[in-house]
Amino acid sequence: MISEHAWRLAELDHTCLWHPFTQMQEYTAQEPLIVARGEGAYLIDTEGRRYLDGVSSLWANVHGHHHPLITAAIQEQAGLIAHSTLLGLSNVPAIELAERLLALAPAGLTRVFYAENGASAVEIALKMAFQYWQHRGERERTRFLSLQNGYHGDTLGAVSVGGIELFHAVYRPLLFPALSAPSPYCYRCPLQRAYPSCGMACADELERILIANAATIAAVIVEPLVQGAGGMITAPAGYLRRVREACTRHDVLLIVDEVATGFGRTGTMFACEQEDVLPDLMTVGKGLTGGYLPLSATLVREEIYTAFLGPQSARKTFFHGHTFTGNQICCAAALASLAVFEQEQTLTALQPKIAHLAARLEEFHALPHVGEVRQRGFMVGIELVAERSSKRPFEPVGARARAVIALARERGVVLRPLDDVIVLMPPLAISVDELDQLLDVTYACVREATEGDE
Ligand code: PMP
Repeated sequence: MISEHAWRLAELDHTCLWHPFTQMQEYTAQEPLIVARGEGAYLIDTEGRRYLDGVSSLWANVHGHHHPLITAAIQEQAGLIAHSTLLGLSNVPAIELAERLLALAPAGLTRVFYAENGASAVEIALKMAFQYWQHRGERERTRFLSLQNGYHGDTLGAVSVGGIELFHAVYRPLLFPALSAPSPYCYRCPLQRAYPSCGMACADELERILIANAATIAAVIVEPLVQGAGGMITAPAGYLRRVREACTRHDVLLIVDEVATGFGRTGTMFACEQEDVLPDLMTVGKGLTGGYLPLSATLVREEIYTAFLGPQSARKTFFHGHTFTGNQICCAAALASLAVFEQEQTLTALQPKIAHLAARLEEFHALPHVGEVRQRGFMVGIELVAERSSKRPFEPVGARARAVIALARERGVVLRPLDDVIVLMPPLAISVDELDQLLDVTYACVREATEGDE
């Protein structure tokens, strides 16, 4: 029996709210899952039902929900001050967090600029890269090179460098044009080549575009190691390094978007560490606060920062800021999350879980409609296909994955797919038993949802 309170909330949810990235016609035909609490890797609804958070509340949660240290840090900061502006003023946790972030980030990044979400951090990186070249007198460098299947957020600048047709096509008339390089998507290679005999032809192609256009390109922007929203596309080892080398050779800035991959997701604190890549600009968000509060940051090299220095009259100021830039409670949560990383040795504890996940994912190859299983650390994509031999997608795209997700919900697991790719991205703090539950339920639901498909 559902309580009267829950009925009332469900009704209001359907009549008052507009959910993000959600076809509301379909959404309002179903009973909503209304989260009331969280505990570790679980979400708990208004009726006390528990659901394993299989995608870390949109790839953000790190140490589990309601971690006592992060909760306490938020409460303590709220008792001091919730917010004062960073425009011309400073505050304690914003300063302390900047120092901590720079100590953890790849060498050479020396300045932190805050925002509230990943898309804004990307906008900031794009504007900084563009303006940097303006100040340097290279005014024709106004373009960006991004990747097919890339995703950097939903604001118009971030969408302009996005490469997912489904999300981005409708907004095309509003966007600035960007150059596009092939996705390092070996399973469906856009160049019809095969890895490794291709010699990473996609990286060659990116460099060819750079050579042809270097004088007009401000920066290349990439997601390191994994193109997340594009379908958990794992780039071949060495691809990111190749991009870095090409940018260096042709004197173009490299923006590494670690919004999804940062804070341990791929097994190291930042993904670019795995290929010894030093970005010129780096964006972080999602897991920065342990996934508790909206905070993001753009980290840049000193040379970029100093290009903006000068008297007021020189108009070199970076004209960008948000009301809640550097918010104290968000920064306090992020400091607490970084303290938990140390205290619980989160990254060390993660390694055997990554290996366990890899071993258990092998089982999915037994399912006839699993085309490819991709994993990098705690980022997993299971691509469903209508026919394995030809890699033919299901028609209509996404319906099978949505069926999997609906079945999983009935069994107490929350997932969210990308087209026909089932995403598994649990909190890093998940236990092995909980990980097994996630895999058992996912396996059973994929089998059930694709049973009977020829
Ligand atoms: N960059 C990447 C790589 C992302 O995966 C995302 C979100 N999935 C964003 C940027 C945008 O972040 P936000 O949703 O916080 O704006």
